[in-house]
Amino acid sequence: MAGVLEGRRGLIMGVANDRSIGWGIAQAAHREGAELAFTYVGESLERRVRPLAASLGSELLLPCDVQSDADIESAFGEIGTRWGGLDFLVHSVAFANRDELKGLYLDTTRDGFRLALDVSVFSLVAAARAAAPLMREGGSILTLTYLGGERTIPHYNVMGVAKAALDASVRYLAADLGPRGIRVNAISAGPIRTLAAAGIGDFRTILDWYAQNSPLRHNTTQDEVGDAALMLLGGWGRGITGEVLHVDSGYNTTAVPPAAVPEE
Ligand code: NAD
Repeated sequence: MAGVLEGRRGLIMGVANDRSIGWGIAQAAHREGAELAFTYVGESLERRVRPLAASLGSELLLPCDVQSDADIESAFGEIGTRWGGLDFLVHSVAFANRDELKGLYLDTTRDGFRLALDVSVFSLVAAARAAAPLMREGGSILTLTYLGGERTIPHYNVMGVAKAALDASVRYLAADLGPRGIRVNAISAGPIRTLAAAGIGDFRTILDWYAQNSPLRHNTTQDEVGDAALMLLGGWGRGITGEVLHVDSGYNTTAVPPAAVPEE
């Protein structure tokens, strides 16, 4: 049976290593028949990402610091030249200074705020604008968000505010691009131990809390996110846009965590 992404071409932005959520999505998309390209930032990441991309049969690896308009233009220009079009884009990129991810949101600096929102939110707008002309027959854009944009989570601070802006950007981009047949969605993943997560204060405690208190009683895995992404990237999700889909063992649905109530 043909895979759900057979014959589709997709660009994955934001693989740093084999723990990256973007890598989980790339593996699922490859398994279902997609042809993939990757972007990376910096030479050291190129060395890590190149063999990963090659293991999925991809040679198309492009430098792209999302803070640079020139990089974005050149990466999507190269996709246009090599492929002539694009079916889906996975935006799995975020950054905030480590100092902003501990202590109080009240202490966020102006520079830290600008940096977090530029890399983690504006980059989606810029990438969507560059991708849209390549999606001539429609397409799907997917970003990664977190519950810290809807509720306060200790230490998530400016990244929570960035995720709230990202969620709103998903809805505005979906409104803008819907008439062109381009869908824009987000997956709100439960906490997963990755490079980006390592910068968040007390991340271990958050992981343990989710495992004990989510309805499914386990931590979200990369491949759970990858499998859910297949639906949004491919034809099964054709009626879905502007949506934030929680892939978090159901944690977001709980009000009183089980651990707060003694067992009878
Ligand atoms: P990760 O560190 O593996 O991925 C983050 C990526 O962002 C890296 O590849 C990094 O190179 C890239 N990046 C940072 N600055 C960049 C820049 N200027 N230009 C281009 N790329 C840049 O960590 P991850 O956890 O896989 O993060 C991917 C996405 O998932 C992020 O948006 C993150 O907020 C989100 N997310 C993570 C979790 C979690 O618990 N790990 C939960 C929910 C959502």
